[in-house]
Amino acid sequence: MANFPLSDVTVETPHTLDMRTQLEQRLQERQMLLAELEPRAIPTIDPVAYQTAAAHRVTIQQISAALERLDAGTYGQCVRCGRQIAPARLEVVPHASACIECQNHAEAA
Ligand SMILES: [Zn+2]
Repeated sequence: MANFPLSDVTVETPHTLDMRTQLEQRLQERQMLLAELEPRAIPTIDPVAYQTAAAHRVTIQQISAALERLDAGTYGQCVRCGRQIAPARLEVVPHASACIECQNHAEAA
């Protein structure tokens, strides 16, 4: 009789592992870009760098939140309506927190 090692079963599916890797890579990229910009990201010195750094900070926050949702097991769910976010959307924006309908609604408001 074969002895199957039951303890080998992992909780994470290959898909969520893949998303985590993607998100962590993007997070690292942004942190590096931000670190480069930060010394001159002062509105009176370099307004463009200041704005770009601010945008990076927002994205870093969104990616961190997405990683937290992965840990919590709610990744891929819209934070507003709770429905599944379209996989095509997550492919383009892995840190998306809302489905396209809710996002459009928020931007229009
Ligand atoms: Zn939604």
